[in-house]
Amino acid sequence: MVIDFGLFQGTPLDERRNLQAPDIDWSDVDAVVVTHAHVDHCGRLGMLPGLGCDADILCTTVTADLLPRVLKSSANLQAMRLDEWKTGTAPVARVVDPPPPPATVPQRGEIEPPVLYGMRDVEHVLHQIRGMPYASWRTVAPGLRVRLHDASHILGSASVEVEWEEGDRRRRVLFSGDLGPDAGPLLRSRPPLPEVDLVVMESTNGLRDIPRATAGPQALGEVLARVAARGGRLLVPTFSLGRAQLVHYRLAELARQDRLHGMTVYVDTPLAVRAAEMIGRHPELLAAEPRRMAEAGADPMEFDGLHKVFNRRHSLKVAAGTSPAVILAGSGFLDAGPVLHHLASLVSEDRHAILFAGHQLPGSLGHGMLHGARAIELKEGVFEVKAERVHLEGYSGHADRGDLLGWLRGRAGGSPRVVLNHGEQRSREALASVIRDDLGLPVELPAANATIPL
Ligand SMILES: [Zn+2]
Repeated sequence: MVIDFGLFQGTPLDERRNLQAPDIDWSDVDAVVVTHAHVDHCGRLGMLPGLGCDADILCTTVTADLLPRVLKSSANLQAMRLDEWKTGTAPVARVVDPPPPPATVPQRGEIEPPVLYGMRDVEHVLHQIRGMPYASWRTVAPGLRVRLHDASHILGSASVEVEWEEGDRRRRVLFSGDLGPDAGPLLRSRPPLPEVDLVVMESTNGLRDIPRATAGPQALGEVLARVAARGGRLLVPTFSLGRAQLVHYRLAELARQDRLHGMTVYVDTPLAVRAAEMIGRHPELLAAEPRRMAEAGADPMEFDGLHKVFNRRHSLKVAAGTSPAVILAGSGFLDAGPVLHHLASLVSEDRHAILFAGHQLPGSLGHGMLHGARAIELKEGVFEVKAERVHLEGYSGHADRGDLLGWLRGRAGGSPRVVLNHGEQRSREALASVIRDDLGLPVELPAANATIPL
């Protein structure tokens, strides 16, 4: 069984690592399980035909609905990136003042970006996807079965419990996938960790407790009031799945309280539009308030003043407009996508604002903007940064340190071994020491490609 055949993301060297699939007999794989539709967890599924793997791809029914769009857009993006590399037309998005330190690793444009699969491969793997309900076992081979538990990270996300027979013993391992916060505004809370022998878990926020109050309606409402009073626009760089829906939901709440100040809201990413539509159709997966609304037949994501943007022409028209507006556009790190032309149109005027919701990747333009960039270069030219910059850290779809510990502490039983596999080294080490000290559980920090004997 393969779990989360995802993409490495980051520097061009990280991206080259995607070409090296794990050295296993892929024709012998019984199932490929996907915890959720973020590309770092599913983005290499298109390589399966080339590897000779025609196993079932198991995921929740919501993830099964999202995967075709995610994989097609990933294939398109790979082809586009190669084309941009060949023609020297890659998007420009960098800080020029203060001048960045000399790069120690190859930058985008210096190494040929890999094309891992094409649209035909995607069409092929779409037939292998099997959506599963939460919490019910599915046998994938004699003596081997799997079930999914809600991870509350994005709609449809799951942790994967695997059970197999060893003589007359049953062994169980749980893979957390990405875990959401304990009590987010939009998604229901996670069920407790079941009793297992071993937990493989993420540690993204192993170092941090997140100030969740900054993701409340009050903080966003204050930003809107300020920007509206100046007659400005608010640009929110977001990724399509997760944070975009959190901000969108808060805007819907504010709209119902008549606190949008006449601003139009544009959601400028087709996948984010689709994900928002799915929320209203799955009340059973929602937190109490949006669930109550959805069950009463009111879509918690719909409101007057919401406009959905489906193509580049419409997006450019929105960017050329001047009326007060909130624009949600990707990418969340300001390194590509429609957010760049919106940025070019408003970054050099101080009546506008840019809202950073959650974490920014070091090295990205978004990170540079948050840390005092005075001037930036985009395809359209060099711009002085005059727009207000706002950081609301609470918009994170990831459990923080307290949530991760609480999840282990609230387990259904047993004393599982804990393996931390996803997160930066400092986060892993910090989380490992509190798990050992506070919970008394054994913790391992394997290197990539390590084998863990059970
Ligand atoms: Zn994720």
